[in-house]
Amino acid sequence: MSLRSRLTTAFLVVVLGPVLVGAVFVAAVMSHLADSRGDALASSAVTTVDSTLGTICERIQASAAVVALSHSSGGSADAIDMAQLVVDRRVVDGVVFTGLQDAGATPSPDVGAEAPDGAWVDCGEAAAYAGAGPIVALGAQAEVQNADGTVSVFSAFRVVDRGFLDRIANVADADLVLLDGRSDRLQVGDVDAGRWDATDAFLPLHIGTVATNVTPMYWTLAAMVFVSGLCAMGLAAWLARSTTRPLHELAAAAERVSEGDLDVRVPVHGRDEVAHLALAFNRMTAQTQAYVNALTASRDQMRGQLGRLGQTLTATLDLDRILEVILDTAMVTAGAEAGVVMLVDVDDADQLRQRAGEGDLGVAQPATIRLGEGIVGSIAASGAPAHGRIVDGVFDGRRRADTEPDARTIVAVPFEGRAPAETDEAGAPRTESGVLGVLVLYNRIAGDDFEPGDVDTLRTFAGQASVAVENVLLHRQAQRLSLTDPLTGLWNYRFMQTSLRREAERARRYQRPSALLAIDLDRFKSVNDTYGHPVGDQVLTELARRITGQIREVDLAFRHGGEEFMVLLPETDADGASAVAERLGRSVAARPFKVNDASGGRELRVTVSIGVAVLGEHADTANDVLAAADEALYAAKAAGRDTWRVAV
Ligand code: GH3
Ligand code: MG
Ligand code: MG
Repeated sequence: MSLRSRLTTAFLVVVLGPVLVGAVFVAAVMSHLADSRGDALASSAVTTVDSTLGTICERIQASAAVVALSHSSGGSADAIDMAQLVVDRRVVDGVVFTGLQDAGATPSPDVGAEAPDGAWVDCGEAAAYAGAGPIVALGAQAEVQNADGTVSVFSAFRVVDRGFLDRIANVADADLVLLDGRSDRLQVGDVDAGRWDATDAFLPLHIGTVATNVTPMYWTLAAMVFVSGLCAMGLAAWLARSTTRPLHELAAAAERVSEGDLDVRVPVHGRDEVAHLALAFNRMTAQTQAYVNALTASRDQMRGQLGRLGQTLTATLDLDRILEVILDTAMVTAGAEAGVVMLVDVDDADQLRQRAGEGDLGVAQPATIRLGEGIVGSIAASGAPAHGRIVDGVFDGRRRADTEPDARTIVAVPFEGRAPAETDEAGAPRTESGVLGVLVLYNRIAGDDFEPGDVDTLRTFAGQASVAVENVLLHRQAQRLSLTDPLTGLWNYRFMQTSLRREAERARRYQRPSALLAIDLDRFKSVNDTYGHPVGDQVLTELARRITGQIREVDLAFRHGGEEFMVLLPETDADGASAVAERLGRSVAARPFKVNDASGGRELRVTVSIGVAVLGEHADTANDVLAAADEALYAAKAAGRDTWRVAV
């Protein structure tokens, strides 16, 4: 059943129901009223007929009595006069005298109408009519005992005829039928009167009164019900249509939205609830459209960002650049205003150092923070991701450090690398619990809090960051392996060329001195010859160790080839380099070298000769300074070995 037919039905039931019930009620009341009115009319007619007949009878009796009285007091003449008077006054139709006192004087002195032949009803015994033939008169008698002992009788009467009945019918406003058994009934009015009642007081009368005819009223009522039904149906159809049409429009629009058409809008009719619904629908669709547009834009942005991330990850080994792009992508994905990537410091495993930062939250960069310090330090120390709101600078019970930004919300994910292999000297710096660093985002755009979903997203990017950190370090290690000498672990000849060229360039540009030491073992050939090549290799390894033990972090030691070594001392002049050469020579000669051969361990006395040349002083190019150092080395050899010489 459609909404429209339900509404129509409900309306019709609500409107037509009471109309029908009311109509039935009115009809019932009408019928009842008609019945009661008929009863009242009938009983009033009966009463009127009875009382009228009663009055007529009293007057007939009174007439008979007054004529008898006149006879007693004044004789026959007075009686006749009196009879004439009551006849003239139409109180009775006639008076019949019987046995007058002085009958001889006035023979047959009946007055008025002739006494009719037939049954008379005596008013004194009104109810006594026993159906003995047609009634012709209503009469009453009065008797007088005369002085001579005779009895005079005076009979007054009214003729019961059509005129008599007419008068009574007029007074009672009813139809009358005299039921006296005559064949041609005496009657007044319409024999088809609606209702008949009987009375037999004085006369056996059938009294007809008009029954109220309610049928036309019923028809009127039915017509009214019919018309109001038609009106109600029209109104219901209009109401249902005007109510359901906007709903149909809404449903059709919702259908189109569900098919992906967000341009659809519904027309708004009037200001009713459905109009509000239509307005809300239009607003909702517009907002959804804006939302979808924003999502599409952010998806495109994300695609671009992921493309950049992929390119960066495959194309560069610049760790800071990689971290920056990872951070950018994480921020776009999670919708953050700012963020940082902090790695465990190379020089201090108890400290995190910022390696990438985006967005401005008013903190000087780069920042460092100690493990366990502030919010980020605590999260890194715990090793567990965290997200939430920073209230008055406090997050999860930790107050932010001065170096941390004053943000509203935070999500942070520490990340770990692979477990470092024991031999993996180039393993990334990490905390005791294995954390390499932490990826942190601040202030979600639009003021929302970060959610657990953001932690998952960040985990992905943190994973990429840790892979990037390890890859870069791995690459560095590989690079380092191709540039180092496998026997001693010192930089090889190739790297020496690169380093010397770079240093020569630097020295030339900044006018700063850099020294080069050329170191050669004295009479090494005899060591090889005496103890064998493997022992010679052990001497070379130990020498490399003693050389690196005597130089600074920034100095570089190279194996030049065979048993000749080079040391590059940046920011060092001839005096400084001479001091290093002296110290180096002494560290070699001072203690014998412990070596092992087939016959067991032994100690060898070893010395070196060193040549010193200074970039910017003895030469300006890599090749020249190398040659100058070699020359100085020769000079040292020539001077008797176990000594050093500066180039000239
Ligand atoms: P001096 O330098 O004092 O003039 O005498 P020397 O005996 O050291 O002479 P030279 O510098 O010419 O010696 C080169 C020797 O170094 C030849 C070779 O036996 C030895 N040598 C070169 N490379 C290696 C190496 O990789 N391992 C070993 N064990 N010996 C090497
Ligand atoms: Mg040599
Ligand atoms: Mg030598």
